[in-house]
Amino acid sequence: MFDINKILRNNIKNLVPYSSARDEFKGEASIFLDANENAFGSPLNTDYNRYPDPLQYKVKKRLSEIKGVPPRNIFLGNGSDEAIDVIFRAFCNPGVDNVILVPPTYGMYEVSANINDIETRKVLLTEDYQLNLEGIAEAIDEGTKLIFICSPNNPTGNSINREDVETLLANFHGIVVVDEAYINYSRQKSFIQELTEYANLVVLQTLSKAWGLAALRVGMAFASEEIIEVMNKVKPPYNINEASQQLALEALNNIDTVNGWIRETLAQRDKLVLQLKNLEFVLDIYPSDANFILVKTTGAKDIYNFLVEQGIIVRDRSKVELCEGCLRITIGTPDENDKLIDALKNYK
Ligand SMILES: *Cc1c(COP(=O)(O)O)cnc(C)c1O
Repeated sequence: MFDINKILRNNIKNLVPYSSARDEFKGEASIFLDANENAFGSPLNTDYNRYPDPLQYKVKKRLSEIKGVPPRNIFLGNGSDEAIDVIFRAFCNPGVDNVILVPPTYGMYEVSANINDIETRKVLLTEDYQLNLEGIAEAIDEGTKLIFICSPNNPTGNSINREDVETLLANFHGIVVVDEAYINYSRQKSFIQELTEYANLVVLQTLSKAWGLAALRVGMAFASEEIIEVMNKVKPPYNINEASQQLALEALNNIDTVNGWIRETLAQRDKLVLQLKNLEFVLDIYPSDANFILVKTTGAKDIYNFLVEQGIIVRDRSKVELCEGCLRITIGTPDENDKLIDALKNYK
C-alpha cells in the first residue's frame, strides 16, 4: 500500500510553510496595510499592485468544472515544469534517492533530477515505444521514489499502453507521474479519472499546448489531497502571477475555440502524414496521438539544415537513442504545413 509518509522527505514532513499576509487574513476588509504593497496602484492601465491569490482559487474552480476534479485535487505551477521540480523537492532526498525514466522521453525530467541531485535510472522503451515493465521492475529499489511516464509521449508521439501504466500504479510503492501535456490530441482517455483508484498517481497537464497559452506559464498537477497539500507547501507562495491567473480564467471560457483548433490540428496531421509518405527520404512516420509527428528519414541533420535555410525550424531528434534519423515536426497552420511540404519537395 502507498503511504505518503514513507516517501516524503523528513525536512518536508517537518516544514513550516511560509505564511503570507494574504494567508493570515481571510475575510472582508477595504484597507490593506498588511503586505507592504504600493497602495496607489500600478503605472499601467490595469492595476497589479496587489499580490495574487497564492492558491489560485478562481482558476482552479473553473478547471475543476472542466476536468471534473475537485479544486483540492488540483495544483497549479508556473508551467508543468515547476510541478515536476516541486515533486522532486518534496519526495526525493538529494544524493540518496533515485527515479525511473523511460527514454526516449521529455528531457525536463532528467534536468530536474540533475538540478536536485537525484540519480536517474533509465529503462529504454521497447522498439515500439512501450514500457519495458520487466526492466522497470529490476531497476526499482528502496530508494526509488518516482517513475515518470509521458503519454502521449514526447518525442515519439504515441500513447503508452494503459494496462502497463496501471500495472505500475498498482505495484510501485512510490509515485507514478503521468505527464499528459498532449492529452487533448489523444484518442486515449485521461488518467484523471483514476485518481480515486490510485493514491500514488500524479497526472500532469498544461495550458501550454492545445490551450495555446505557453507564454502564460500555467501547468497543472492532479493528485490526492494529501499529495496536493505537500506540493502547495513546497511551491513558492505566489508562483502564478496575477496577469496569468486572469488571462487563464478568461481563456478557460473559450473552450469551443480550443476544441476547433484541436480538430483542425488532427486533420492537418493526417494530411501531413500522407504527403510526407510520398517523399523518398522519408523512411517511416510513427503513429501520433499528439500535435507533432516523429519522422524517420535518410538524413535528419541535412534535412534540418535545408529547412533552416528556408526559415522553417523543426526539431532534430536524430541523436536520441531509438530515434536515429528522426525529426520531430509540430503540426502548424494549414499554410505553414503547405510551406513545409513545398520546401521538402525541393530537397534531394
Ligand atoms: C511541452 C511539455 C510540457 C509543458 O511544460 P510547461 O512547463 O507546462 O510549458 C510538459 N510535458 C511535456 C512532455 C511537454 O512536451
